[in-house]
Amino acid sequence: MREFIFTFGFGQTNPDTGRSRASRFARIQAEEAIDARLLMIEQYGRAWAFQYDTEAEAGVAEFGLIELARVPCPTCDGTGTDSSRANDAVPDFLTGEPVQRGPEQCGSCGGGGVIEVELEATTQSKRD
Ligand SMILES: [Zn+2]
Repeated sequence: MREFIFTFGFGQTNPDTGRSRASRFARIQAEEAIDARLLMIEQYGRAWAFQYDTEAEAGVAEFGLIELARVPCPTCDGTGTDSSRANDAVPDFLTGEPVQRGPEQCGSCGGGGVIEVELEATTQSKRD
């Protein structure tokens, strides 16, 4: 298993939150470069800038890039649903019969069960 570094550029944002991903990077573990790209697209979408073999090539320390990571949503514990938002039985719109509604989609991760976080820099680096 190898590690690949993917950088983001200006104008690239987290589609879930709208937060800028400029000066950020992601770390992907994979056997081959092509596998890493597929994992990257699966986790972050197609809007990223470049793929590198090492942090040094990507300029992580040089440019003070901030690492992004995908972690299980703490609100729903990665389930994507919020059981505290489950409703009691409500009348059906047409029949009036009571219908039990299940847990609602988690409000923090939008039902994906995963959120994006910024990791603390491990090396001395400047922040934007
Ligand atoms: Zn959640």
